[in-house]
Amino acid sequence: MSYQLIELDVQATDNIACPHCQQLIINWQEEQYIQPCEHTLFIAMDIGFEYITDEFEQTMQHTVDDLHANDDQLNMFAELTASSYPEFIIMKSDLGAAGYFRYIGLTA
Ligand SMILES: [Zn+2]
Repeated sequence: MSYQLIELDVQATDNIACPHCQQLIINWQEEQYIQPCEHTLFIAMDIGFEYITDEFEQTMQHTVDDLHANDDQLNMFAELTASSYPEFIIMKSDLGAAGYFRYIGLTA
């Protein structure tokens, strides 16, 4: 596994664009604010997943259903980085609540 962590300096209410295609993956102007592009592998918060591709889920140690069933013990960042996906980018952004983050996974 190999990942690159990018810590975004954004507010919880800011849009977030894909660095490859500039599509707004988080777009608060849309009713459905989660707008994954073709580079998006997952969109997750510390408390659970908002989006994940089958391809990425298959590289994780646990299934999303397992993780959601045990979300009281969930360490999202540890689960994401335990993936065997060969190369990916994690964009980390602050959710505005103490210690909570959103993680957007992208192909490298
Ligand atoms: Zn993209």
